[in-house]
Amino acid sequence: MMIQHHILYLEACTSGLTSNHKESFMRENSTDVAIVGGGPVGALAAFLLAQEGIDVVLIDQNAEAIEDYRASTFHPATLDLLAASGVTDALLSMGLQCPVIQYRDRATGPVAELDLSVLSADTKYPFRLQCEQFKLTRWLHEKLEMMPSATLLFSSNVTDVQANSDGGATAVVTSNGSESRIDARYLIGCDGARSTVRQAMGINFEGYTHPEQFLVAGTQFDFKGAMKNIQSINYTADPDEWFLLLEIPDMWRIVVPVSPNVAASKAQSSDYIQRCLQNICPSDQPYEILVNSVYRVHQRVADRFRSDAVFLAGDAAHVNNPLGGMGLNGGLHDAFVLTRELTSVLRNGGSSTDLDRYEALRRPVAINDINATTERNKKAMEERDPSVRSANNDRMKRICSDPTLAYEHALDASMITSLRATGLLPSR
Ligand SMILES: Cc1cc2nc3c(=O)[nH]c(=O)nc-3n(C[C@H](O)[C@H](O)[C@H](O)COP(=O)(O)OP(=O)(O)OC[C@H]3O[C@@H](n4cnc5c(N)ncnc54)[C@H](O)[C@@H]3O)c2cc1C
Repeated sequence: MMIQHHILYLEACTSGLTSNHKESFMRENSTDVAIVGGGPVGALAAFLLAQEGIDVVLIDQNAEAIEDYRASTFHPATLDLLAASGVTDALLSMGLQCPVIQYRDRATGPVAELDLSVLSADTKYPFRLQCEQFKLTRWLHEKLEMMPSATLLFSSNVTDVQANSDGGATAVVTSNGSESRIDARYLIGCDGARSTVRQAMGINFEGYTHPEQFLVAGTQFDFKGAMKNIQSINYTADPDEWFLLLEIPDMWRIVVPVSPNVAASKAQSSDYIQRCLQNICPSDQPYEILVNSVYRVHQRVADRFRSDAVFLAGDAAHVNNPLGGMGLNGGLHDAFVLTRELTSVLRNGGSSTDLDRYEALRRPVAINDINATTERNKKAMEERDPSVRSANNDRMKRICSDPTLAYEHALDASMITSLRATGLLPSR
């Protein structure tokens, strides 16, 4: 279902709901929580707050969630964390359950396999769920549309954010060529890597940008029929062109690096993508390519996740390469923690210093777990030194064949370790 939310009043009327929040927001342009960015992280934060009956406005520059072929991996820890909200059941109904992660080397083929069923006593979901991120975002938007305390303000660009002396914050919004101001007790910037909110708050985004870009292409080619022993999730190391091959419900996605000498437009040409695919798995027919995109990828973490009444979450707060599938998962964990703390203050009389817990819990995870792990994964995938590569392969074989090591590795790769360490999931 396509969602259009240009005119709030119309939206409130047509939804058939009597919504005090929508009406009072129309009158006063003020709310408890304003969220800038209706991508998966902002939409989840809005949904969790609206479930608590907290007034929230979700603002996005687009008219609807765009088809976005970035994230497709949801880890067991995320599924556990979001089970009570109903989000996990929605994801399960839209995604593909993949219990095995395969590690490969272009030169030698399969190296090792990690079976996540070793986690069956630790999680209700001992598998990776493969589902395109835009499907989750659209599901959340549809739910939010029906929730009385949520207002969706789409086709609206936030151009500035100011922290107010009374403790709240104001967003300056341009919609249909006219400018308005939205006052909020708290504001969350979920507006992605180039976050306007982060820049407005003068928060540095320390780190670096990878020189190569990442090409994502989708095809319905039958890789399982054509590549011996290939699993739905596999990471193939290679010094020149490593690749990720991931099965999602409607197709397979490939992710390959694009040399800094190749322009994004060239990498998106049919010839270039055909060459990449033929190089991965030769076929006598040209591949049918259904989707493709090129992304610039960074390793950065914001200096601060909070500035008075303004918070950052998701890619606005931390970005990393996709090897390990941790960026969006980490952003969803941010949304869970931040909305829990905001709920405690807005609904249950918690102190506003409780909100400092958010940065204290999440920033170290972004640096020490998400950034560090994805950097390590990328380094292993592109290792040039044959002896280090061979040692890496031996290490993965040892880990996957030793029940204790495999179990520990599975806990880390599934992000259960980091959520346990910060008290979000119970220890076994
Ligand atoms: C190739 C690739 C593969 C990936 N695969 C995975 C994976 O498998 N698993 C995983 O966990 N992560 C993965 N990631 C990372 C993941 O895609 C991101 O972490 C995720 O999209 C972040 O979500 P977000 O909501 O924080 O930001 P975004 O998805 O970037 O959403 C930001 C939203 O803010 C809106 N916005 C921006 N500026 C404004 C403004 N000024 N005013 C109003 N609205 C604004 C935008 O329109 C957008 O809707 C991958 C990334 C890449 C590049």
